[in-house]
Amino acid sequence: MLKGKNAVVTGSTSGIGLAIARGLAAEGVNITLNGFGDAGEIEKLRAGLETEFGIKAVYSGADLTKASECAGLVKFGEEKLGSVDILVNNAGVQYVSPVEDFPDEKWDLIIALNLSAAFHAIKAAVPGMKARKWGRIINTASAHALVASPFKSAYVSAKHGIAGLTKTIALETATFGITVNAICPGYVWTPLVEKQIPDTAKARGITEEQVKEFLLAEQPTKEFVTVDQVAALAVFLAGENAKSITGSLQQIDGGWVAE
Ligand code: NAD
Repeated sequence: MLKGKNAVVTGSTSGIGLAIARGLAAEGVNITLNGFGDAGEIEKLRAGLETEFGIKAVYSGADLTKASECAGLVKFGEEKLGSVDILVNNAGVQYVSPVEDFPDEKWDLIIALNLSAAFHAIKAAVPGMKARKWGRIINTASAHALVASPFKSAYVSAKHGIAGLTKTIALETATFGITVNAICPGYVWTPLVEKQIPDTAKARGITEEQVKEFLLAEQPTKEFVTVDQVAALAVFLAGENAKSITGSLQQIDGGWVAE
């Protein structure tokens, strides 16, 4: 039933976003890829999606810290593929520091990318979805949309904000065949997690080796969530059987927030 739909997946050149793009493409969804990285590698990803899954894939390097580029990305998807039926707001970055040392520009960056970008993209995509009476908006939130950890003031604030945005837009669009949900992963082994190891070690006064163990201490399963597990949940939320699921925050965290 997803075959022939068109999706924009933000931050899909790496990690969770790339896995979601692949998961949707495997269902026959055409994909607008977005994110940063080496141009040659990105082109390989784009062309690879087309040959592996027989769909159309396009790429935009929109910088989603800028409001106009968020709206521009949705417009790009509509122009290149015909519509944006599925919007996955996934791009995000992390910064770890005690609040008194937290750089103002990192706060601004994280709020812009991890929260405001979703608002701007949703605002641009909803009119088309309403007109077609069908849409799926999936926000990659985090366990940090539901609980906090020290030294992540901007990230936790942005992710709690995404939870509120998800519920609000779900209420506004509920009678238009549009669902809006957030996925709340625990720790998933991706470059985002790998990059925070040194700063987490510094902020907590432990070794980098201890950080991995420390992260998994949050997860009762003692296992990292995989990108493919998150992608499978996103594909389910995009599907027809999920049409009554809206405004929800889906935990996929090995039991983290149950504690
Ligand atoms: P990642 O670093 O692998 O991917 C981040 C993506 O965002 C990349 O494609 C990157 O190029 C893109 N990006 C960065 N800045 C951008 C910008 N200004 N404009 C457009 N794109 C930009 O990270 P990931 O772990 O896959 O994270 C993806 C999402 O999942 C994030 O929102 C993150 O907060 C969330 N998340 C991750 C974990 C985890 O443990 N990895 C857990 C919970 C939630």
